[in-house]
Amino acid sequence: MRRLHEDRHDPADRSSWGAIQIVTKDNEEFLKKVLEDAAAHPGKDPVATKIGAYYAACIDEDAVEKAGITPIQPLLDEIAKVKDAATAAQAVTFLHTENVSAFFAIGPTQDYGDATKVIAGLDQAGLGLPERKYYLENKDTIPRTRKVYQAHQVKMFQLLGRDAKAAKASADNAFRIETALARLQQDDITRRDPHAIYHRIDREGLEKKVAPSFPWGDYLAKQNLGTVTAITVNDPKYYTGIAKLLGSEKPAALQDYLTWMVLNDYAPELGKAWVDEAFVMQKELSGLKELPPRWRRCVHHVDAELGELLGQSYVKARFAGDSKARAVDLTKAVLAAMRVELDGLAWMDDATRGPAKQKLDKMAYLVGYPDKWRNYDFAIGKDFAANVRAATKFELARQLAKIGKPVDRFDWEMTPPTVNAYYEPTLNELALPAGQLQPPFFGQAFHPAVNFGSTGGGTIGHEMTHGFDDEGSQFDADGNLHDWWSKSTKQKFGEATKCVVDQYSKYEAVPKVRLDGKLTAGENIADNGGVKLAYEAYKSWRGKQSPAPQKDVEGFSDDQLYFLAYAQSWCEKVTPELLTTMAHSNPHSPPMWRVNGVIVNQPGFGPAFKCPASSPMTPARQCSVW
Ligand SMILES: [Zn+2]
Repeated sequence: MRRLHEDRHDPADRSSWGAIQIVTKDNEEFLKKVLEDAAAHPGKDPVATKIGAYYAACIDEDAVEKAGITPIQPLLDEIAKVKDAATAAQAVTFLHTENVSAFFAIGPTQDYGDATKVIAGLDQAGLGLPERKYYLENKDTIPRTRKVYQAHQVKMFQLLGRDAKAAKASADNAFRIETALARLQQDDITRRDPHAIYHRIDREGLEKKVAPSFPWGDYLAKQNLGTVTAITVNDPKYYTGIAKLLGSEKPAALQDYLTWMVLNDYAPELGKAWVDEAFVMQKELSGLKELPPRWRRCVHHVDAELGELLGQSYVKARFAGDSKARAVDLTKAVLAAMRVELDGLAWMDDATRGPAKQKLDKMAYLVGYPDKWRNYDFAIGKDFAANVRAATKFELARQLAKIGKPVDRFDWEMTPPTVNAYYEPTLNELALPAGQLQPPFFGQAFHPAVNFGSTGGGTIGHEMTHGFDDEGSQFDADGNLHDWWSKSTKQKFGEATKCVVDQYSKYEAVPKVRLDGKLTAGENIADNGGVKLAYEAYKSWRGKQSPAPQKDVEGFSDDQLYFLAYAQSWCEKVTPELLTTMAHSNPHSPPMWRVNGVIVNQPGFGPAFKCPASSPMTPARQCSVW
């Protein structure tokens, strides 16, 4: 689901404000107390000692100021050695061991052709702006954002000590190379098609065909992947293009681009001048008015870099007792409703129904928190940026070590306090962190209709439906990219999807900035299916209860409560800047359309609120995929 939002002027340091942000704020305040206590009492226990030391180094602004750019000096020194294409490749190789993704990125990926295997995946990367269109297009506010970005690049080079003229020249070099990369990159809509980003060319293909001039042997050896031969790339042409760029750009320009990548990554971890300058860009993209207080940024750092240590106290306090069992029951109820739906679906033929049911039956779910906590075996000192560097390297090594090993189905991609959830198509697995399973989304004392509407529909049903959206439906029960659809059913699925694409393409994020119906199709299908299926799950559950749950609460019927709870989960105010950025680069529709765009397609909504036929919220034509 990836609910990537921040908030509006309500508190000035957030770019959106609503139910999700209220839960997030509450989590942050709780974790702050945990971390302050841990920092004040080192030696209490190993977990507290570690998270306490990490937080203490982050919060110590004087020490951060004093350290200056010392923590990133080793990275800059490597870049200074670039004098031709070969030394540029060496610098890229070094930066990748530090997880600075200049030009491209490397990581583990399940082989789309055989999901039991973890292979190496190379993907496009290396832009400072959110998507290639920011470099190449002129629609909406893109030209303004580009201008702010270029001025920001100049200032960052000035902070590094270059005079105005030299800084401008460096910034121009970095931006020119980024623009060249943007031209080579795939756009977000192309990337929704798994076939477009999966090319098993292997090491041989890279070395012999795609980019022979790049020293792949040395590159892989330095990432501790010297024996790895199974490699997929997003687009072979991209790597040919990069190899060419390394040969054609002047060494000084390559140094500027690589330096920019390091500064862009590390500015938020350096002294005040750097942090403030990094915030200029964040402000432009999110509408954030003020920099969040340091403690909040530090809580997020500990969560991002030592998440499964910090998460332990969160789970103890906020997800205890039978919370997990109740969330599991709700998950089972929603999955069961999908099974009933699959049995009765008129547009699906039996040849497709079989594998669809198999996919649903094999769908796994992780609830709340991991059964086994991860270790973080790296030293934590008093230098904050150096700690971030160590944590980053450690996590990268952990990720790359997965390559060539069997798939670990229990490795979480989110930490327990995260107010979010996800579905992973290659694992056919959904994950619901404890942070999302909190009031007002989920609560022991809540009317069941509220838990079904908000968590059942908005979270569980949504994630489950991702297994069957325009992207997820291309993977089979075992996570292989394999077409299990009959031709005629696929065509009907395509027509139903097009209805959703057309519907959302008409909506505006802010006046004159329309949503991209194709970019948001998967999330919109998941929203619509989730709410519809969890409603069926609720009705089925209600039918089996004796005594039946309370019918009316504060003047609302329980059916009305169901839809109200869903809508409230997306009750959210967002800055126009963030709404615009979302429309340009985020696969989710803005919150208001996650409510109204979904409700107009719900067969249960009109009867629940006694809306006359063909009124605004019950249009004659409703889109329905699931
Ligand atoms: Zn989603």
